[in-house]
Amino acid sequence: MSATIIDGKATARAIRAEIAERVRARTDAGVRPPGLAVVIVGEDPASQSYVRGKRKAATAAGFHSVVHELPGDTSREKLLSTIDALNDDPAIDGYLCQLPLPDHLDKQEVIQRIDPEKDVDGFHPINVGRLAAGLPGFIPCTPRGCRELLLRGGFETEGRHAVVLGRSNLVGRPMAMLLGQKGPGGNATVEVCHSRSGDLAEACRRADILISAIGRPDFVTADMVKPGATVIDVGINRVDAPQGPGSEKGYRLVGDVDFDAVSQVAGAITPVPGGVGPMTIAMLLQNTLDAWERRTGG
Ligand code: NAP
Repeated sequence: MSATIIDGKATARAIRAEIAERVRARTDAGVRPPGLAVVIVGEDPASQSYVRGKRKAATAAGFHSVVHELPGDTSREKLLSTIDALNDDPAIDGYLCQLPLPDHLDKQEVIQRIDPEKDVDGFHPINVGRLAAGLPGFIPCTPRGCRELLLRGGFETEGRHAVVLGRSNLVGRPMAMLLGQKGPGGNATVEVCHSRSGDLAEACRRADILISAIGRPDFVTADMVKPGATVIDVGINRVDAPQGPGSEKGYRLVGDVDFDAVSQVAGAITPVPGGVGPMTIAMLLQNTLDAWERRTGG
């Protein structure tokens, strides 16, 4: 069997075009554009590249986009005052503080300082609680992107057995909550596995829908996948590439799933790159659009 490739790049492009259209229609009618800000502390190259991607996508969709670049030795007080200013800024509908932060800054203190109504990353405990309770709120972008791929691809989740590898606050936990929620893209029976789980291979073989978010290259092998299963690979891992694709950079990006082998067994699979990654930025725009619609009466 050869799996259907779930094209996250094309899906994300379509969502971004829908968002841009919605923004155009309302700004043409005199409404101010959606405002998205990103705070970045320090010079981590991967974080800088993510932030550039977010800014580019926001601008292309017609958003007012702001980036606050703070040096790596920024004090706690300076960072908190930047956050307070964003909380008070009427032109900003949503913002995030790019993680990871330098060691001297407390991630939880920063997350909890963000106004939950502008928390487009969905990491504030109030939004985590809303998700757990099945109430409306911001859903973290990566799991929301995975759910969107399932919904738009017509992959039924109701009554299916879903296995999520990973229990991070960023991906695994919210993913499991979404799949188990009542409603479209939910109603699955969900099993969550992590580094202390027992027989992971056996658990994975039970999955009609397998979502891997652990950060281990080629961890999920073909013998771990039920024939016909839908496999969503969230992992992004750098592996050495002395020759072939990526050799000019010295590395290439792979997921958690052994793509070539698993695509012979699965019914559908996301590639890496080009699967979940582009959906994360699209969902950041979607979360900001939702906030803007609420704040401007759309
Ligand atoms: P994380 O915070 O490091 O969490 C990893 C999770 O995987 C933990 O729950 C850990 O278990 C579990 N785990 C690690 N090794 C395992 C093993 N050998 N067997 C079973 N479980 C194992 O990572 P994350 O932030 O959730 O990210 C996960 C992956 O997704 C990374 O590759 C990251 O780069 C990628 N990611 C991609 C996107 C995207 O846009 N595509 C967005 C975010 C993250 P314990 O809890 O027991 O430690």
